Amino acid sequence: MSKATELIHSIPVDPLTGSISVPIYQTSTFVQEEPGVNKGYDYARSNNPTRAALEKIIAELEGGTTGAAFASGLAAIDAVVKLLQSGDEILAVDDIYGGAFRLFTHVYSKFGIKINYVDTTDVANVVDSITAQTKLIWLETPTNPTLKISDIEAIAAVARQHNILLCVDSTFASPALQQPIKLGADIVVHSATKYLGGHSDLIAGLVVTKTKELGEQIKFIQNASGAILSPHDSWLVIRGIETLYLRVQQHCKNALEVAEFLEYHPAVDKVYYPGLSTHPNHKIAAKQQNGGFGGIVSFTLKEDTTEAAKSVVCGTQLFKLAESLGGVKSLLCHPATMTHKSIPTEKRRAAGVADSLIRLSVGLEDVFDLIKDIDAALGNSKSKNLNSKNIVEIARFQ
Ligand SMILES: *Cc1c(COP(=O)(O)O)cnc(C)c1O
Repeated sequence: MSKATELIHSIPVDPLTGSISVPIYQTSTFVQEEPGVNKGYDYARSNNPTRAALEKIIAELEGGTTGAAFASGLAAIDAVVKLLQSGDEILAVDDIYGGAFRLFTHVYSKFGIKINYVDTTDVANVVDSITAQTKLIWLETPTNPTLKISDIEAIAAVARQHNILLCVDSTFASPALQQPIKLGADIVVHSATKYLGGHSDLIAGLVVTKTKELGEQIKFIQNASGAILSPHDSWLVIRGIETLYLRVQQHCKNALEVAEFLEYHPAVDKVYYPGLSTHPNHKIAAKQQNGGFGGIVSFTLKEDTTEAAKSVVCGTQLFKLAESLGGVKSLLCHPATMTHKSIPTEKRRAAGVADSLIRLSVGLEDVFDLIKDIDAALGNSKSKNLNSKNIVEIARFQ
């Protein structure tokens, strides 16, 4: 059976009524026949049938044993960090999601957890940075917003050798493109707010573990800390997952065409997209992402200023200016003044987030409309515009 068919049919038909859509069990508690005798559910923080359906679906999608659904991607990340103890060390990707950086550095360091940020695109850096205290390697691949790729399989081998847990934040790839557990990771986390939900209408997070033992620990933390996903939002994520393959395929297709267009636009300096053969980690991306490169494209302008970037991000009609990504509608943002605003200027620039860097979340509109939209906005940036001949050239992508 093909993956898309498997995915669609992993969403269960309700055994009680035959409902083709998973019912939303909007309840806080479950009536018991006698104390301790119930139908598998007692209190909705501990377990809820709608959430349980989502958790089973995501565990299957990732090839893991246990899934756990949380109120946000960050709540999911938080649950994984709670596996650690004071004195333990996390070895994390340096180009990490800002919210994970804030959680690790400004919350968990207070509780005696040390964080060591390294460039994990080079496995040698990972090997060199491991200490006796390292208990968790934290990867994000592809990263935000410069789309760096780390070799999950190679780093998993290193982690196993040193008896260290490997967790991969696979939000940018989604399980449609990448299954880290199959490549040797112990844990996968997602901000389901992005591609899994897929419609920019909810905040949610997911954890999947390779082993039952780790799954039990995560479930214990989920119940103990209580940052669970609501039944209604669980249902929305399931509904999003139904079309995951279809959406991600189209996101990838559109993004590649936009990236190729930007590559030869006279106003554009660098284009960051793992699907371009010029991307430094293109080969690893091709190997571990099932041949797809995702829907996010970043680029810088020849006129490398905040003003030039602002004129572009305020000049589009279809690409809406907003944080977040992975929805049906195209979005764009200016990391230097938005998502990466709190990072000191020099540190931000050193991490490759130039003043003019713009991040696109390429949506599901017709790609030619999207290209025309960006082209018009680039024209506003005082750079030379494309002429109609180029536009015709681009039309061949259709
Ligand atoms: C958005 C995001 C998160 C955080 O998820 P929320 O659902 O916003 O809490 C974590 N990691 C990555 C890579 C993200 O893009």
